[in-house]
Amino acid sequence: MTDNLSAKDKRSLFHAVSSIADTASSGPFVLSHGKGSTVTDEHGRDYIDMGAGLWCVNIGYGRDEVADAVAQATRQLSFQHLFGGAASAPAIELADRLLTLFRERANAPHMARVFFGSSGSDANDTAYKMVLHYHNLIGKPQKKKVISRHGAYHGLTYAAGSLTGIPAYHKAFDMPAHGVLHVDAPHYYRGAMAGESEADFAARMVAQLRDTIEREGPETIAAFWAEPVMGTGGVIPPPQGYFEGVQQLLAQHDILFVADEVITGFGRTGEWFGTGRYDLKPDIVNLAKGLTSAYQPLSATIVGDRIWDVLEGASAQHGAFMHGFTYSGHPVCCAAALAVLDIMESESIVDPVAAKGERLLASLKQRLKDHPFVGDIRGAGLMVAIEYLADPATKRDFAGMAGHKIVAAHVREEGVLSRALPWMPVTSLSPPLVIADAELDEAIERYAKGAERALPQLE
Ligand code: PLP
Repeated sequence: MTDNLSAKDKRSLFHAVSSIADTASSGPFVLSHGKGSTVTDEHGRDYIDMGAGLWCVNIGYGRDEVADAVAQATRQLSFQHLFGGAASAPAIELADRLLTLFRERANAPHMARVFFGSSGSDANDTAYKMVLHYHNLIGKPQKKKVISRHGAYHGLTYAAGSLTGIPAYHKAFDMPAHGVLHVDAPHYYRGAMAGESEADFAARMVAQLRDTIEREGPETIAAFWAEPVMGTGGVIPPPQGYFEGVQQLLAQHDILFVADEVITGFGRTGEWFGTGRYDLKPDIVNLAKGLTSAYQPLSATIVGDRIWDVLEGASAQHGAFMHGFTYSGHPVCCAAALAVLDIMESESIVDPVAAKGERLLASLKQRLKDHPFVGDIRGAGLMVAIEYLADPATKRDFAGMAGHKIVAAHVREEGVLSRALPWMPVTSLSPPLVIADAELDEAIERYAKGAERALPQLE
């Protein structure tokens, strides 16, 4: 049966973001089931999933309540779209609940409407088109360039992939698209000059953004895009004062701010939303992943009143908003999100996340303090990075940036799933938010064993 699956995979499945050659030689890594924070592979071997899938299974695997809600919604109305003013009860209920939740929990009373898609990528494409549309409507058609950051990850469709600031995702596809600019990631550990304080480093990053805006001409810059904590780029929390400076600059030059909360939304950083945690005032916020804990594909683009008021005011004259997808507001996906939010709220799942994150960070620092290749351990809530260097003293990288990948492979051998990230030499840990302290401790112990076992290959 197993050989059968592997053989079928090799002859049929085109894997996402995978080396075709490596997958052909090693075969697929096939999981068969999951419960809580543990997943089991096709051979019956358990792993603690310290990645929560792709930073998304926040409430853990296998919750019956969500399965039941999905089954019930499927039986009741298995599909309904939102085109031409149509809707379904789950889409309406979820939009209303999400707006209230976000306004309250993110201290963002200015958010006005919710637009649904199916993925983080399409949410960023949606936001991009809204930004262009807004500037056309207010008579500033020359304001079209957008600024993102090197190392950013906003998805892989053409617009979102262009906003992504990681060359590995660009090089095959003639990306980034014209009009997308990237400034430096505010990565203090790697980017700071000798003796530079975090606040001075943040001010230098803001000054670089200011210089870019002035060089390009503020009248041409439509929007700035940022993850509150950069995820795939290496788990990079914003240095002290960074977003304050950035937001002042954006306000000064009348530039929209799009916050990509696809990872940070729904408790990941220890608060419900990164927008609240970092005191952001975005014009658009994108959510996905934790919105349904990945039980169903769903994204939400929340639009602030500055943009909504213009779209609404222009509607009678302009005509329909000609953007959306067959699956926008899919009733089964929205029902899954409602069931997940019920669990998140009734079980107060976000409350202990900050403390669990502290425990994870402190234990890792203690357990890995003698590892010669660990350069930095950092994080925000249950979003943690362990950065590996060939020489931490000089911050010299391993040849081919391979060190952290070797560690991640050994860690998997120990029964823990971590992620080897594609831009910084980081293994990331982002477990389900429901992970128990005992599981967390066990995962740290196994992780440390894997990192030690990797030593001969790193030296
Ligand atoms: N934005 C961020 C911050 C992400 O981390 C991701 C995915 O990891 C995306 C967008 C893209 O989401 P998706 O893979 O659902 O298109």
